Amino acid sequence: MTYQYDDIVVGSGSAGAVLAARLSADTSRRVLLTESGPDYSTVDSTPRDILNGNAMSLEAHDWNYRAEIYDGRRTRFPRGRLTGGSSAVGATIALRGTPDDYDEWAALGNPGWSYSDVLPYFQRMEDDLDYSGEYHGQGGPIPIRRWRPDELTDAQRAFQEACLAAGYAETKDHNHPTATGVGPIPSNRRDLTTRTSTAMGYLGPARSRPNLTIAAGTTVERVLFDGDRATGIRVARGNGSGDDIHAGRVILSAGAIGSPTILMRSGIGPADELGRHGIDVRLDLPGVGGNLIDHPRTGVFMVPNPGMINPGYPFLQTILRTTAAGSAETNDLQYYMVNHFDLNLFPELYMLSGVPVIFGVMLVLQRPKSRGRLTLSSPDPTAPPVIDLNFLADDHDVRALTEGVRTCWELANHPSVRRLGEEIVVLRERAINNDRMLGQYVITSLDSAYHPVGTARMGPDADPMTVVDSGCRVHGTTDLYVADASIMPNIVRANTNLTSIMIGERAAALLTAGPPRTSGDQAGQAA
Ligand SMILES: Cc1cc2nc3c(=O)[nH]c(=O)nc-3n(C[C@H](O)[C@H](O)[C@H](O)COP(=O)(O)OP(=O)(O)OC[C@H]3O[C@@H](n4cnc5c(N)ncnc54)[C@H](O)[C@@H]3O)c2cc1C
Repeated sequence: MTYQYDDIVVGSGSAGAVLAARLSADTSRRVLLTESGPDYSTVDSTPRDILNGNAMSLEAHDWNYRAEIYDGRRTRFPRGRLTGGSSAVGATIALRGTPDDYDEWAALGNPGWSYSDVLPYFQRMEDDLDYSGEYHGQGGPIPIRRWRPDELTDAQRAFQEACLAAGYAETKDHNHPTATGVGPIPSNRRDLTTRTSTAMGYLGPARSRPNLTIAAGTTVERVLFDGDRATGIRVARGNGSGDDIHAGRVILSAGAIGSPTILMRSGIGPADELGRHGIDVRLDLPGVGGNLIDHPRTGVFMVPNPGMINPGYPFLQTILRTTAAGSAETNDLQYYMVNHFDLNLFPELYMLSGVPVIFGVMLVLQRPKSRGRLTLSSPDPTAPPVIDLNFLADDHDVRALTEGVRTCWELANHPSVRRLGEEIVVLRERAINNDRMLGQYVITSLDSAYHPVGTARMGPDADPMTVVDSGCRVHGTTDLYVADASIMPNIVRANTNLTSIMIGERAAALLTAGPPRTSGDQAGQAA
């Protein structure tokens, strides 16, 4: 067969943009990067919602999914749809997982993914403007800076004071492997406002290469095969028609929602689920779409005093990472001071609070035990999948969130924080010591932190719920790979963007079989 490309990378998000940039650094490889959304090739042509790192972009460049949270309640479930993917719309929190997270991946049968194995890739991606040394990198494509004390809002300073008064340690560098406590958030930006996505950091320097083609506005329907060998992709053109593009390798980086749906449409997934949609089963892999893990979030929020909120402030600036009482998992809880939370996009919460903008202390559970599932609603590539987060299925999560809300309440009621707001939204004092009432509050206020992972889990072939091996190759196939957030065997104790970029870096090195160079090399240079 004559191939038009050596590699096709499907999806240009946190991982896919990295792969396309690293693979095309070898000028002898012809690389096609396909992206369903638009591509903005210059800063000048990039819309304001994508450049503004001080607020998430939840509508203008979104897939418009909804996910089930609990007991039938569904909510907005954003995913970035443009080059840069979700790294281009997110809250710019640039945190690594704990060393234990990656050591667990290795212990689950994934050699090459322990903390010491992946650290060089975290270093390689970054240009840390604050810290250097054995754990940090300089000169990489993604700038990382922490908020300086004089840049914090009153609410952030008050939160920090409340945390220190409650006995939590202060930490200045949350990306140090032993960091815990309260301190400034590392953020993927070089200045005070501009979000740096992987499209800017990685594709920017690579896009002029003659051997890299970026096909924006191109939605991939499925993978093409010759026997068990992937030979290319079918691009959806509407009305059931499509174009075929052939390549030596296909790498799915369409994210934890996109990649498993492409696999299922290609006949790779749970046989009964595929059969329900009349899709011919190529490979019965029950783990595709299973093991959906996400970080649940709730919190204690307040109606702000008049003039207290400025929507131009950064959304988040400081974080408290701590360990739940009795937990063996360090940093399994995250707390944030949210400077402003616009409820116009969340009508249920708007209705409950009665005001359009709130602020307060947010809790994000880092090691949930509940597992959800992603299934197709139809084989049509334009139909949204069914996303069931199945939050609170495990009692551990109910208990941890209920206890966590008590901590939010204490921090929000510290005098330095409490004086900034008029009243606390929904939650009343009498509920705090009542497990049943507090549990009901958790159920009502629960939402996603937008960190889905695990839907094409990495692990040994012998485990029937795994989908790719430690080289990112789909079990039972040749020349088909998945490299994005969906391969995480378990969720990390951190927001998932940096770990997804690391997966892109690590997969690119595996696919070029070259050892990582140390930090400081640009995306434009050879892998
Ligand atoms: C609103 C929001 C805020 C977030 N904030 C943070 C944060 O502050 N810090 C943090 O660490 N994490 C954050 N996250 C999570 C983080 O961004 C993701 O975990 C990470 O980007 C996942 O990377 P990925 O490469 O797996 O997928 P994505 O970055 O989502 O990339 C997938 C790409 O594939 C494309 N695609 C999908 N299907 C197809 C198809 N069929 N054909 C062609 N292209 C396709 C998509 O359009 C997208 O560009 C946030 C996420 C969201 C949505």
